[in-house]
Amino acid sequence: MYEHTLLIGGERVAGTGETQPVYNPATGQEIARIAEAGPEQIDAAVAAAQAAFPAWRQTQVKARAEALLALANRIENHAEELARLESDNCGKPYAAVLADEMPAIADTFRFFAGACRTQHGQAAGEYLAGHTSMIRRDPVGVVASIAPWNYPLMMAAWKLAPALAAGNTVVLKPSEQTPLTTLRLCQWLAELFPPGVVNVVYGRGATVGAPLIGDARVRMVSVTGSVATGRHVLAAAQNGVKRTHLELGGKAPVIVYDDADLAAVVDGIRTFGFYNAGQDCTAACRLYVHEKVYERLAADLASAVSTIKVGTQHEAGVEMGPVITREHLARVEAHVERARAQPHIECLTGGNRASGSGWFFQPTVLAGAHQSDEIVRREVFGPVISLTPFGDNDDVIAWANDSDYGLASSVWTQNIGRAMDASARLEYGCTWVNTHFMLVSEMPHGGLKQSGYGKDMSVYALEDYSVARHVMIRH
Ligand code: NAD
Repeated sequence: MYEHTLLIGGERVAGTGETQPVYNPATGQEIARIAEAGPEQIDAAVAAAQAAFPAWRQTQVKARAEALLALANRIENHAEELARLESDNCGKPYAAVLADEMPAIADTFRFFAGACRTQHGQAAGEYLAGHTSMIRRDPVGVVASIAPWNYPLMMAAWKLAPALAAGNTVVLKPSEQTPLTTLRLCQWLAELFPPGVVNVVYGRGATVGAPLIGDARVRMVSVTGSVATGRHVLAAAQNGVKRTHLELGGKAPVIVYDDADLAAVVDGIRTFGFYNAGQDCTAACRLYVHEKVYERLAADLASAVSTIKVGTQHEAGVEMGPVITREHLARVEAHVERARAQPHIECLTGGNRASGSGWFFQPTVLAGAHQSDEIVRREVFGPVISLTPFGDNDDVIAWANDSDYGLASSVWTQNIGRAMDASARLEYGCTWVNTHFMLVSEMPHGGLKQSGYGKDMSVYALEDYSVARHVMIRH
């Protein structure tokens, strides 16, 4: 039904590289075979982006905004089709993709369509007698954007919208595992943007991603992915002294104080720890619970989590799907087995593969974890949360911050002073209070430490995808 073409210089073309299988993780069935971009196609995509840059950067900002708004409309009008493709390719519940992801994706394009029209430099300082200085904000140039598999179309939107709004041209590479929605977008990108402004190349990291980010004509590399990939990007960017924008892993701490509304915590963690089968860099996966309420919360949470309905994407009432690949399932399982081998860790619910022909793992709660345990320190990226009791506020803040990651955190308390104090001391790009995981287009998303740097969404992303330039006029 679909042609699964790449987009290069305004033309939708088949890849000339090796063919890759694409699966539905809920059934384990192959659902497409797609040819990767060949080396000459990667070269042509970058050349097209470079050729399109001078005109696109000078295109009136209103016209850029109109193209983004038109794309948002196409996405909205085809939301069901896109949600079906996305849920088939990721195995996640169709209803959630349609209700949660599609509106957020359209909103990303709408937000940047508006935001770029408010972007301006700063005028006008007179710092030398007889001279006026002003600051322009200009695009960077050709941006290579590399997306992950967990929210394929949303990550493509987070990358395309600010880059294009700011006047850059883009070569986008979706994940080799989940390209279907991004490739579907190619038709509309070809219709709505001048040739070469957006190019899409499909393929694996080593065969397509690496040559793309290493191309000397690429001026900025934006990647959402693992820390290991972030390091590859930094090494490749080093030669060309390229700007980088890195959104890497996470291991979000959740601090539950003894005055928290425990029913709200249970409800929140049941949702935000297991959404997308926990394959989310902000997933509420590392709980620290005050010892006064620890036993009660552990029991209530385990009981709530045990009712999460696991299933294939179109099953009625399904809340959680599989993990993305057979290999990832084995990784998640091995993490849980190593944790359960520790005598102090108790598995309160889940802990095993779930039935089904796809790559399902049960929603899992591991209690009694210590700060030094691997399950507390390493990203599992699956439906697995750990619980650790605490007694002292300084200890829990120190434990929460004792991580290589710094993306997202949350604090649950009814005491506003406590919430403000913890929010100020947590070393994370985001701290939610009495909620978790909530994102809006107007606010930045991005990390500290090995979670990377650079902001997605918000006017901060427009700044990341543009450069400040000084112009001085002698009177
Ligand atoms: P990954 O790093 O394996 O792949 C991400 C993308 O990078 C893919 O498109 C892949 O093909 C590409 N890639 C891999 N090696 C490359 C190379 N050498 N050169 C160029 N491109 C290369 O990550 P993943 O498994 O797709 O996603 C999971 C990871 O992403 C998790 O660690 C997760 O925490 C992180 N993530 C972070 C955020 C965030 O906002 N911080 C959001 C989603 C996912």
